[in-house]
Amino acid sequence: KGEKLWKTYNLDSTEVHALKGLDITVDESEFVSIMGPSGSGKSTLLNLIGGLDTPTRGDLYIGGRNVSSMKDSELTKMRAENIGYIFQTFNLLPALTARDNVEFPMRNLSGNKKLDKSSRIKRAEECVEIVGLGHRMNYIPSKLSGGERQRVAIARSLVNHPKFILADEPTGNLDSDATGNIIELLHQVNDEGTTVIMVTHDVETTKDTRVMRIKDGLIES
Ligand code: ATP
Ligand code: MG
Repeated sequence: KGEKLWKTYNLDSTEVHALKGLDITVDESEFVSIMGPSGSGKSTLLNLIGGLDTPTRGDLYIGGRNVSSMKDSELTKMRAENIGYIFQTFNLLPALTARDNVEFPMRNLSGNKKLDKSSRIKRAEECVEIVGLGHRMNYIPSKLSGGERQRVAIARSLVNHPKFILADEPTGNLDSDATGNIIELLHQVNDEGTTVIMVTHDVETTKDTRVMRIKDGLIES
């Protein structure tokens, strides 16, 4: 269904073909791992799926709806309500505590999903507890370890009860204990019905997931 996905970046006068006609389908409640060499297009693909960037050509469907045909306002709403994103470089707000970083995405909820401040804080604290950081509620990111920051980023991705979690190397900077904890957490969320799409370099983290390999902007297997 739909045209294959292409993404070309224009740098000065050079074109970088990051994705060269990808055709993939992820089913509801699946846990998919995306592997591939550095520069193969993994983050680009995740950005397209998450609506952070638009394909140069091709169609992307989320829950049966063509994302390319959505208006910006519709896309923002769809993203806030359906997608939790864990970035390759955390992207926590440095001046905000763990609690407030996690609370932040709830401000994008609109209509009947909108929550008042005290409900937002309650939900944020719940998510910080879920990732095991109840004792770090009032810490700002610079006072947290790498693994703790990553767990705050995960708590933030969960806060709006997303249908999808998109995780770009969520264990990239962590030791094996912290890695195990994060992967376990993602499987827990997945068991509750959330679709997880994770980019990873570490084969160990792909156990019990469907592995998809990208090379040079194309699916290898
Ligand atoms: P890594 O494992 O190192 O994170 P990746 O598989 O995530 O790599 P991408 O970040 O998707 O790779 O990049 C794919 C290709 O697109 C690379 O050649 C990269 O240099 C290029 N690229 C990525 N983002 C941009 C951009 N904003 N402008 C120009 N080129 C880009
Ligand atoms: Mg990347």
